Amino acid sequence: MDCLFCKIVAGEIPAAVVKKNDLYTAFNDITPQAPTHILIIPNRHFANMAEVAQANPELAGEIFKAAGDIAGEIGLDSYRMNVNTGAGAGQSVFHAHLHLLGGRAFAWPPG
Ligand code: AMP
Ligand code: ZN
Repeated sequence: MDCLFCKIVAGEIPAAVVKKNDLYTAFNDITPQAPTHILIIPNRHFANMAEVAQANPELAGEIFKAAGDIAGEIGLDSYRMNVNTGAGAGQSVFHAHLHLLGGRAFAWPPG
């Protein structure tokens, strides 16, 4: 399958990896929208986080836990976890990923 994030998991495309284990890979977003902008992705391919949760709720939980753990490790006390699901919601890479954003103030409602 021609999937950018599968290639990052496989090490075929370079990424600034923050944390990696058997289940997930976390790496810096190439176009950061905040001082901290990390993507946490399952190593296995799923189209979006809803599909991860359907197929393997424990894996979805591990990905959210990873985001919280990383935020704690880098000392973020306020941060945003964001999941764009579907092109109309801004999803551009169709391998599931959770955005961890921090280091600046965020507005609500989102744009
Ligand atoms: P989304 O728009 O929610 O699908 O998020 C996809 C994210 O992947 C965007 O924030 C992109 O900046 C990011 N991205 C695209 N290509 C790369 C890459 N090669 N390495 C790291 N992040 C990437
Ligand atoms: Zn993939």
